[in-house]
Amino acid sequence: MSEQTGPESRSHQLQAERRIVVVGAGMAGVQTAVALREQGFDGPVTLLGAEVHPPYDRPPLSKAVLLGKAEGSAFDIDFDALGVELRLGQEATGLRPADHEVDTPQGPVPYDVAVIATGAEPVRLPGAEDMPAVHLLRTLDDAERLRPVLAAQHDIVVVGAGWIGAEFATAAREAGCEVTVVEAADQPLAGALPREVAAPMADWYAEAGVRLRTRARVARLEPGGVVLDDDTRLPAGAVVVGVGARPATGWLAGSGIALGTHREVRADDGLRTSAPDVFAVGDCASFPSARYGERLLVHHWDNALQGPRTVAANILGLTSAVYDPVPYFWSEQFGRFVQYAGHHTGADSLVWRGDPAGASWSACWLRGTQLVAVLAVSRPRDLAQGRRLIESATPMDPAALSDPTRPLKSATA
Ligand code: FAD
Repeated sequence: MSEQTGPESRSHQLQAERRIVVVGAGMAGVQTAVALREQGFDGPVTLLGAEVHPPYDRPPLSKAVLLGKAEGSAFDIDFDALGVELRLGQEATGLRPADHEVDTPQGPVPYDVAVIATGAEPVRLPGAEDMPAVHLLRTLDDAERLRPVLAAQHDIVVVGAGWIGAEFATAAREAGCEVTVVEAADQPLAGALPREVAAPMADWYAEAGVRLRTRARVARLEPGGVVLDDDTRLPAGAVVVGVGARPATGWLAGSGIALGTHREVRADDGLRTSAPDVFAVGDCASFPSARYGERLLVHHWDNALQGPRTVAANILGLTSAVYDPVPYFWSEQFGRFVQYAGHHTGADSLVWRGDPAGASWSACWLRGTQLVAVLAVSRPRDLAQGRRLIESATPMDPAALSDPTRPLKSATA
């Protein structure tokens, strides 16, 4: 390297001298380290992770790991071979942009560039702190605590009919538990999907033998059960709380880094934060989307996979990369493979492909003739084709789109 003298090699040497510290060793943090190496950075990379376990993937926790079909879900990455210094069990407690340091109980960690990838933490119900039979499902430790609960076939009350609640209820039924899901709204997934699209999903619970109680608010948790606000007492061997997650940004208090309305880090379109040399990515950060004309805060796996490539490109300054994805996620619930691509806010019409009472169907949102989002229930081709059409903003023919026997990609105008 010392023999090279051109401007490219000088910039390369400058890059290699920079210390990059990534805070959070989940999907987004790990992928940032991987993307830095893939894009040619050979300087020091430190990955700080609060958890003691080798970094792992979360989606299997509510599926195979919970049912004991997989022992764990550690990423298949050799951090030594990658030259990444992995510091596990080290929780960042502060960030001081003026000093370019991240604080930890083990001492300050200096950085030239820092990446905030601390993800999200589950919302807790008040009063549940000391109750051993009340569970969350976010971490490997949570899943390991829940495995024996399933194996013992306890009666379980799940609070919240969102993505995690539905997936947990699916696994618990498969394990032979009696399951009741209580939901404050009048249907499942009320915060995520419009009424008409989520309504058919209520039947999936009954089909699977899960009792779904909507418009049911938890008044309090008691040892051995849940009391609803109409005084109904639901006995439970275990309670699983799945009422959402919030960005894990409490440790940034006093850092001066701008946060948004959900306490997420407000990043720009290149995933830079308001502090110099600090980026943010994954569940903890929102970004402005020109594609959808609004700021997006995405709590899904694909965002934690794609965002890091933009972060790495902008750290290395090789290109000025803009992050404006078509968001994508999937969920496996009640024997169905549910996938969603796009963002339906701002759509002006909805086209169904197939009967929503049936085993497989899709819902397509249009703005004018442009496809902006697709929800596919056990129709993975619709999702794959729809995702490409959303990306390319191809005008669609709504009549052709409504024919589920035609490939979605052939329904262009
Ligand atoms: P996280 O995975 O939350 O990782 C952040 C890491 O940072 C954590 O390990 C945390 O311990 C660490 N951390 C936090 N604070 C600090 C600190 N101060 N210092 C150091 N480290 C810190 N998405 C889908 O699209 N499909 C699915 O089927 C799906 N299933 C899921 C199932 C479960 C049970 C869960 C919990 C999530 C699921 N998701 C799914 C969502 C997906 O897993 C997340 O979007 C993804 O994990 C986000 O990655 P992240 O790295 O941004 O955050």
